[in-house]
Amino acid sequence: MSERRYTEQEEALEIKSLRRIIAAYANYQDAAERDVKRYERSFKMLPPAHKELLFHLGLKYQRLRWCISMNAAFIMNMLEAFEPPFNMSQYIDNGGHDHPSNMHNHSHVDCTHSSGRGDSPTISISISNSSLDEQHDNPKEGAKTHESSRETDYKKDEEDQMAGCSQPVGSNLGTSQGVDVSCNGDTNARAAAYYQDKDVYSSSAVDNVTPRHCTGSLFKLNVPPIDVDKVRCIVRNIVRDWAEEGQKERDECYKPILEELNRLFPNRSNQRPPSCLVPGAGLGRLALEISSLGFVSQGNEFSYYMMICSSFILNHTQEANEWTIYPWIHSNCNSLSDNDQFRPVSFPDIHPSSAGITEGFSMCAGDFVEVYSEESQESAWDAVVTCFFLDTAHNIVEYIEIISKVLKDGGVWINLGPLLYHFADSYGPDDDMSIELSLEDVKKVAYHYGFVMEVEKMIETTYTANLRSMMQNRYRAAFWTMRKNASREKPC
Ligand code: SAH
Repeated sequence: MSERRYTEQEEALEIKSLRRIIAAYANYQDAAERDVKRYERSFKMLPPAHKELLFHLGLKYQRLRWCISMNAAFIMNMLEAFEPPFNMSQYIDNGGHDHPSNMHNHSHVDCTHSSGRGDSPTISISISNSSLDEQHDNPKEGAKTHESSRETDYKKDEEDQMAGCSQPVGSNLGTSQGVDVSCNGDTNARAAAYYQDKDVYSSSAVDNVTPRHCTGSLFKLNVPPIDVDKVRCIVRNIVRDWAEEGQKERDECYKPILEELNRLFPNRSNQRPPSCLVPGAGLGRLALEISSLGFVSQGNEFSYYMMICSSFILNHTQEANEWTIYPWIHSNCNSLSDNDQFRPVSFPDIHPSSAGITEGFSMCAGDFVEVYSEESQESAWDAVVTCFFLDTAHNIVEYIEIISKVLKDGGVWINLGPLLYHFADSYGPDDDMSIELSLEDVKKVAYHYGFVMEVEKMIETTYTANLRSMMQNRYRAAFWTMRKNASREKPC
């Protein structure tokens, strides 16, 4: 991809956006504690007889606190390992006047199928086996979109920025830094250094912070509920992608895709492995499985929430089931028992660096539209796999057009997912564009761009579901394999 460079303003926006995300992670514990306090307040309002009857709830709240602290410990370790692609001490004291007031207005948070648009990643995290990848992502400058929609440029030789973002597998996978599993002040301090974002979090406590001289009070920031939700969504995504408990969902979603790839590329050679792009790769498990199957696999993801977490799991895991979290503690609803709510989940269920990945595995951060519209991406891929991705589009036609463009003639597109358009019903001030087509129309558009349907079926599945919950959202997801047939392609 061509080399690009950030303008100062773009970089400032990226840094602010990333600070906000780090702050959301870093304040996980505080936000959760606020919930527990709310439960306790309700409990206190009970008449004495009812209180006595529900005496055990007091213990439940203590237990909740303990689980929260365990989750927070994981998050803090993850932040500790994260190496921001920017010098995060920049652009702190300008009062935010150079930023649009709506820059952090994410119009949509969807916990069952997280969109994450607006997270503005601009780095390329490479976990390839080979040398540093040089993919550059370029979130676009969209007319009416929000902060993610910025042209972001990157200059290859700015190694200080790239360091730690492009991490070769050899030096990173399985070589965790051995950070203490604790939520101590030092770890907090490191994270705190990244989010001194005064205009968003008007807390004087974050002024003039130096990383190693901070206290826990720095975390008492007022993170917007939408960001709190996003962190909790990531926790659920960890289960989907990296826990034993997510196996059922992975069998429903990823297995049919992997089987299809296996069938379509029967004679894969180690010397010249076929290539596969996975836009909207989430926490990276599908992209990793595709790599292990013998493909040069590249995940593309534009949410920093996702990238920070996937990078940690892929690059810093020392052994399988190294971490234990309590993903289901944040909802008291539809629980069969408290024990269900408090059940621990260990992850990752596999050691990523022992998964037999194919050389060239990488995660590329950036807006799919921006990154893969580049000329260098034309006819670059043998396969494109989209899983719960198509409906994240503002303009699904654009997604399909790009998928067609990046595929080689005869290349295949495997899709699985619903059409729960992320920007449908978004009543944000931005009034985001949202083209919401039926499945029938989606297929028509695909045919227009030269695709021929080869396999088509519906697959019932869930997305980050709590298996023991009394409520289960099920999707009837569309699954297909289409082949790009050059002779039928009609240029627009
Ligand atoms: N494929 C994963 C994640 C699906 S959720 C899975 O099946 O679990 C959709 C993902 O697409 C989210 O992680 C979201 O951040 C990402 N995404 C949404 N719009 C994107 C865009 N324009 N470019 C890159 N990633 C995008």
